[in-house]
Amino acid sequence: MTSLADNLGRAEKYLQRWQNAPVQNRIAGQDLDAVSGETFETICPVDLRVLARVAKGGAADVDLAAMAAEKAFQSWSAWPGRQRRNLLHAIADAIEARAEEIAFVECMDTGQALRFMSKAAQRGAENFRFYADLAPTARDGLSLPSEGLSNITTRMPLGPVGVITPWNTPFMLTTWKIAPALAAGCTVVHKPAELSPLTARLLVEIAEEAGLPKGVWNLVNGPGETAGRALTEHPLIRAIAFVGESATGAQIMRQGADTLKRVHFELGGKNAIVVFADADLEAAADAAAFMIYSLNGERCTSSSRLLVEESIHDRFTDMVASRARAIRVGHPLDPQTVVGPLIHPDHQRKVLSYLELGQREGAVLAAGGSIEGPGGGCYVAPSLFTGARQSMRIAQEEIFGPVLTAIPFRDEEEALELANGTRYGLAAYLWTQDLTRAMRFSGGLVAGMVWVNSENQRHLPTPFGGMKSSGIGRDGGQWSFDFYMETKNVAFATAAPAVPRLA
Ligand code: NAD
Repeated sequence: MTSLADNLGRAEKYLQRWQNAPVQNRIAGQDLDAVSGETFETICPVDLRVLARVAKGGAADVDLAAMAAEKAFQSWSAWPGRQRRNLLHAIADAIEARAEEIAFVECMDTGQALRFMSKAAQRGAENFRFYADLAPTARDGLSLPSEGLSNITTRMPLGPVGVITPWNTPFMLTTWKIAPALAAGCTVVHKPAELSPLTARLLVEIAEEAGLPKGVWNLVNGPGETAGRALTEHPLIRAIAFVGESATGAQIMRQGADTLKRVHFELGGKNAIVVFADADLEAAADAAAFMIYSLNGERCTSSSRLLVEESIHDRFTDMVASRARAIRVGHPLDPQTVVGPLIHPDHQRKVLSYLELGQREGAVLAAGGSIEGPGGGCYVAPSLFTGARQSMRIAQEEIFGPVLTAIPFRDEEEALELANGTRYGLAAYLWTQDLTRAMRFSGGLVAGMVWVNSENQRHLPTPFGGMKSSGIGRDGGQWSFDFYMETKNVAFATAAPAVPRLA
């Protein structure tokens, strides 16, 4: 296993390219400064130093990118599926070849720990491989014969699409959204989050070096309110695939109304982990800790509400608290680190403010509650509130940090009411050994994804997405193609024409 010192040296080598030159936009295969000439800074959450200056794109840059994507669409969408498959596999190979660089840059830009980010490239490559293999059949449809007609459906790619991503695990999320768009035959304009733009830049250059034609994938950096907004309003952009906060999703829907944008939203969550007394408590405690404290708790599917049956509440919350206290908080490149610094001082302040708020609301801190770690960065201790009530803001609002709120329940009915009692409906986790109850309870949960006796494990053919304020639409399998493609029905007469005469 490598040491922190080794890793720091290697990370510096990868980051060096941006020390004197800004991160540029990539439009039609060209590196471009923002039309305005402006830049913004991306900082390292470990020590707040500036990692890079980044082109601050706006409406003019988005316009260039949308035109490039429109121009590339005709030839890209006409590529045979098999050829697209081969190219997407070549991109996956190229991602794997730069796995260390991707992991180290992601750690330094986001604060996510290397133990998780070391798999970022592998997961990103898997996303490309999965959709590579579906590319040859993406256009397939159904034969739905009727009397006198042979109805044949087919799918065709929408056109240029916009992809807008958040800062938490940008590399993985970007591959997840863009791989199916390319497999479907769409061209892309990507607007990454301002707070962690670096691996998006690596990704587009990796794709082009692997042979992706110019203009098929364009990258515009810049603020959500200007560059993001322009993308959602652009008439050439047929759809917006967005991952981010629920309030931003609502704003994007308004912005896209005039151009009738198709939207796919993966939004926030306040996901419950429900633990019944008959559960395998050791495994459930491991899962509860894993699902809130891994990835710094900056994870849409984090289990941020712990609902525990009354009879085991104190014992179980003690088990989770002792796990939380034992978690190593530290530098993201330290192989021992589990929780790294949060993305930015503003986000650290937000998370710390919830730790204060929870205490004012009357909940009890059973673990954490303050800054922890090496200092100088945006560190927050893995924290657990007990004695919370459903009406508290810490039980209702997405904190997006390593903060878990535990609430006891009397019986199954109350557990379900609590589990469903927020505006969100992304994921839920259920721990019980009673099969009948597991089936009954999971059937009653209003959440897009439910894991029973398991932590979150992604299987790409399954649908991923949320209900209520957690999203619109699903990713994964054919669901991604449903979004990035139009379905067309062509009806052929199978008998001699017998068209009714009107005159
Ligand atoms: P955010 O909504 O603030 O920003 C996301 C992206 O939207 C950024 O690129 C931003 O620049 C852009 N944006 C902001 N305003 C815009 C506007 N008016 N028009 C167009 N684009 C705009 O979210 P964030 O803080 O970066 O990320 C955290 C959020 O993402 C959390 O709520 C989390 O739950 C959610 N998330 C959801 C999933 C999921 O799959 N459901 C996955 C990861 C993160």
